Amino acid sequence: MTRIIFLGTGGGRFSTITQKRATGGIFIEDGKSIHVDPGPGALVHLCNKGLDPSRLDAVLVSHCHPDHYNDAEILVEAMTWGGTKKRGVLAGSVSVLEGLNGYSPAVSKYHQEKAGEVHALVPGDNISIRSMKVTATPAIHSDPTTIGFKIHTSSGVISYTSDTILDESVVEAHTGSRVLIMSVTRPLDSPIPGHLTSGDALDFVNVAKPELAIFTHFGMKFVDGVAEKEALLVERHTGVRTVPAVDGMEVFLGRKIDIKTFQ
Ligand SMILES: [Zn+2]
Repeated sequence: MTRIIFLGTGGGRFSTITQKRATGGIFIEDGKSIHVDPGPGALVHLCNKGLDPSRLDAVLVSHCHPDHYNDAEILVEAMTWGGTKKRGVLAGSVSVLEGLNGYSPAVSKYHQEKAGEVHALVPGDNISIRSMKVTATPAIHSDPTTIGFKIHTSSGVISYTSDTILDESVVEAHTGSRVLIMSVTRPLDSPIPGHLTSGDALDFVNVAKPELAIFTHFGMKFVDGVAEKEALLVERHTGVRTVPAVDGMEVFLGRKIDIKTFQ
């Protein structure tokens, strides 16, 4: 059984600043524990869920915007038992680990040296987290080194687009995944550069055809019931089960997929 926990479902500057939705990223448990995109509050929400951050095996960071990287250093401290044991995998975009065009590295050299392994990834790269394969996927965003992830769990592939626009290369990279987690920041009628709208998500899901599509990373215009309506629209047009994530939501992947919300 594989479990996905949404420690936050907000994204973009104002959703993050106001914490209209939490921004703790995504936690995946499959015999090992992975934290994907630990934005502000990741550590707090992990602890509030009763999860032990010192048991993390990997921290993955898709790009150098704070709604995705903010708590990465403190999670590396947790993963390395306060910096006393060199363990775990830290992987992310080139901007996150090496810095690029004014983006400092989002994780200091001090913290990078604490991790067991550090990987700056470009699309197509593969790494192994205690024998579980993770593939970096392309993304087209204002941070030009942004990547998404395909996580090959024992219950099938979980795909995470990160922030991107709709592009053939992105859709192709995520086709064939069992669960497709998409950063859908805006509703149909309100596009913003560098992000997906729910209209883009419809076209994406229509081609990628996952078993389950999940919207997350909601901006201010996409909360208060709008995401629910538009996810339903995607589901009706594509025939693919499509769910808007809510803070704290858990997805259990076994032979079938169960979803639990706590609101
Ligand atoms: Zn971004």
